[in-house]
Amino acid sequence: MRTYRIATIPGDGIGKEVVPAGRRVLEAIAAGSTDFGFDFEDFDWGGDYYRKHGVMMPADGLDALRDKDAILFGSAGDPHIPDHVTLWGLRLKICQGFDQYANVRPTRILPGIDAPLKRCGPKDLDWVIVRENSEGEYSGVGGRAHQGHPIEVATDVSMMTRAGVERILRFAFRLAQSRPRKLLTVITKSNAQRHAMVMWDEIALQVSKAFPDVKWDKELVDAATARMVNRPATLDTIVATNLHADILSDLAAALAGSLGIAPTANLDPERRYPSMFEPIHGSAFDIMGKGLANPVGTFWSVVMMLEHLGERSAARQLMDAIERVTANPALHTGDLGGKATTVEVTDAVCAMLASNA
Ligand code: ATP
Ligand code: MG
Repeated sequence: MRTYRIATIPGDGIGKEVVPAGRRVLEAIAAGSTDFGFDFEDFDWGGDYYRKHGVMMPADGLDALRDKDAILFGSAGDPHIPDHVTLWGLRLKICQGFDQYANVRPTRILPGIDAPLKRCGPKDLDWVIVRENSEGEYSGVGGRAHQGHPIEVATDVSMMTRAGVERILRFAFRLAQSRPRKLLTVITKSNAQRHAMVMWDEIALQVSKAFPDVKWDKELVDAATARMVNRPATLDTIVATNLHADILSDLAAALAGSLGIAPTANLDPERRYPSMFEPIHGSAFDIMGKGLANPVGTFWSVVMMLEHLGERSAARQLMDAIERVTANPALHTGDLGGKATTVEVTDAVCAMLASNA
């Protein structure tokens, strides 16, 4: 029997509610399997840790995670700590430390969800957004000078390397190739940003030669937002820079129903390090501690984790359980217009899994 070592990092806000829910679902899956199980280790990093130690995670934190098979992450964000401190001190430290350069965000309208896109007409969407996750606008390169003075200057350098752009585009073409429609849209802003974005377009053309069966096109990011609403069926796999894909994936999640449903995988496709799985939403302090958080985004992230671990049948089983739960409006949390609690939704998914086993 195989035992997967899983790190859980609830982090802040509703992360502390949805990550334990995700762990319960993993335990329910393990209970139904004779082939594999999980060995969990929980890490109390985040805002509370920062208040005690002055850092979001310990200096040797990455070493504690290095031998794990996967990481389940909640959220980093605290109303009393600046956002750039919480983000760079924890989540981005792990993403960059483990070179999780591919951030993958599938979006579909799940059964039973009253998605805003449906209100725009008889429309549907089935997308995977690939976000460059290691450089670009969030490279961290930049600085401030003459702080507080009228001549103050500040820069954030959007740094793109040929190697970084090439590897994410190759990943996106490969992913598009693995999906039924074999369709890829490469998103840039190469009309206005005339250096790095033009390099993206050039590299996309070069990489595309190795994928003759993938039909691909280019779109500017502003036009892409309109296309997502007006012609959603013309999109399938989408690849964009760190910033652009960050924005597009919130739009995608909202069109599909709620931020609370959407999942993310931060992948090291070469599998040198553990990959990290997390809901797309943040710490949502407005609803924390009330049992109102929708755990579906975390459960879907667990599906992606199982796929990454090679447990495809368990992944399918969990996705099926999630869809049967969303199909029932009595099991919708507040973000979906319902009254169900985090625990009720989790119980329902676990019960579905148990009845399948
Ligand atoms: P952060 O600063 O950590 O990104 P945030 O406060 O900006 O967090 P998000 O978590 O990104 O908030 O989400 C925005 C809003 O959407 C929240 O304030 C919350 O009301 C709602 N929301 C987000 N996730 C969920 C969820 N899982 N269940 C229910 N509502 C959610
Ligand atoms: Mg936010």
